[in-house]
Amino acid sequence: MLDINKIREDFPILKRKVNGQPLVYLDNAATSQTPKQVIDVIVDYYENYNANIHRGVHALSQEATDKYEQARIKIQKHFNAAKTHEMIFTSGTTHSINLVANGFSSLIEKGDEILVSAMEHHSNIVPWQMLCERTGAVLKVIPMNQEGELLMDVYNELLSEKTKLVFCNHVSNALGTINPIKKIIDKAHSVGAAVLIDGAQAAPHIVADVQALDVDFYTCSAHKVCGPTGVGMLYGKEEWLKKLPPYQGGGEMIAEVTFEKTTYADLPHKFEAGTPNICGGIAFGAAIDYMNSIGFDQIAKYEHELLLYATQELLKIEGLKIYGTAKNKTSVISFNIDGIHPYDIGTILDKLGIAVRTGHHCAQPIMDFYKIPGTVRASFSFYNTKGEIDTLVSGVERARKMLV
Ligand code: PMP
Repeated sequence: MLDINKIREDFPILKRKVNGQPLVYLDNAATSQTPKQVIDVIVDYYENYNANIHRGVHALSQEATDKYEQARIKIQKHFNAAKTHEMIFTSGTTHSINLVANGFSSLIEKGDEILVSAMEHHSNIVPWQMLCERTGAVLKVIPMNQEGELLMDVYNELLSEKTKLVFCNHVSNALGTINPIKKIIDKAHSVGAAVLIDGAQAAPHIVADVQALDVDFYTCSAHKVCGPTGVGMLYGKEEWLKKLPPYQGGGEMIAEVTFEKTTYADLPHKFEAGTPNICGGIAFGAAIDYMNSIGFDQIAKYEHELLLYATQELLKIEGLKIYGTAKNKTSVISFNIDGIHPYDIGTILDKLGIAVRTGHHCAQPIMDFYKIPGTVRASFSFYNTKGEIDTLVSGVERARKMLV
C-alpha cells in the first residue's frame, strides 16, 4: 500500500496555500507536480556541472554528457525499447509528433489515407492536417460512442491498402479513456500502415512496452510524469527513424558540413539539432526513477480507487453529468452541471484553493461531439487523497448552489 502522507512530503508545492486555502491540485492531466528528488537533480545540475554536451573535452562537459546519455538509457529501459538510439529527446509530445509528421511528407503521396481517432488532442490532429495539406493525403476519423470509446468495427472498415498511417492517443486527456492500442497497432500493421501512439496521458499511469506493443512511434512529455516542462521523448523503431529525414538542421545533427553538401549524424543525433534541454533530459530520467520507486502497479491501483470514489461522490450532485464513462479509464473526470458554464465552476473552485481545468482541453472535436462548449476536468494523481476529493465535491456543490 502507498504511504500517501509520506509521498506528499516529497512535493513541496503541496504545502502551499492558494487564496488562503490549502492547495488541492487536481490538474494533473495538464501537468504533474515535481518531487524534491527531481528538483534536487535540477539544482545539482546548475550548481555543479552545467556545460554543453557531446562536444567538450573538459570535465564538466563530459559529466553532463554522461548524465544526459544515462537518462536516455533510463528512459529506453522504462519503455523497453530495443536500442538506445531509438529514443529521441524532444521538447515534448507536440515536438515529437511534428517531427514524425514532417518526416512523412516525403513518404506520403496524394490519395494516401491517414487515420486519426475522434478523441485526439489538437497536437495529434493539426500536424497531420498540415501533412495532408502538403501532400494531398486524406485524413479520416475513427469515430467514438457516447461513452467515449472508439468504434473498432468502423476502424476495421476504414483500414485499407491506402492507409499509410494511424494516429491515436493511448489515453484521452479530455475523457481518460484507455484505448485498445495493441489491437489498433496490429490491425494497422495488417494493411502495412505505420502507427504513432501519443502516450502523453498514459505515461503517468501505465508503463508502455514498445516492443511488446510493436508500435512504430510512441511519444511522451516529462512534465506529465513528475519531470520538468520543455522536454519529452519520441520512441521510433530504428527502421522508421532511418527512413525519416531530419526535422531541423543545425549543430549536433551533422556528420560533415561543406557548402556543397552536408551529411547527417547517426541516430539519435540526426533528430537532435542544437543544444538540447540538457538539465531537462537528466531530470526526466530522475522523474522516471522516482515514479518507478513508487511503482506503477501501486500507482494504477490507488488512482483507480480515487477515480471510483470521486465518480461516486460527484454523481450525487444534482444535474452533474460525467463525459467519458469508458470501462477502461484513468483517473480523469470531465463533467458539467446543467445550466452552468464550466468556467464559472472552475473560478469558484479556484477561490477555494482547488485547481481544476476548464475548457475544451485542446480537444475541440470531443466537445463538438457532445455539443458542449467545454467541461470541468478533475484529474487525480497518486499524491492526491480522498480528503481532497471530499473538498472538491463540497466545492462543486457550493458552486452549484451559487450559480443555479
Ligand atoms: N497529447 C495529449 C493526449 C496531451 O494530453 C498533451 C498535453 N496536454 C499533448 C499531447 C501535448 O503535450 P505537450 O504540450 O507536452 O507537448
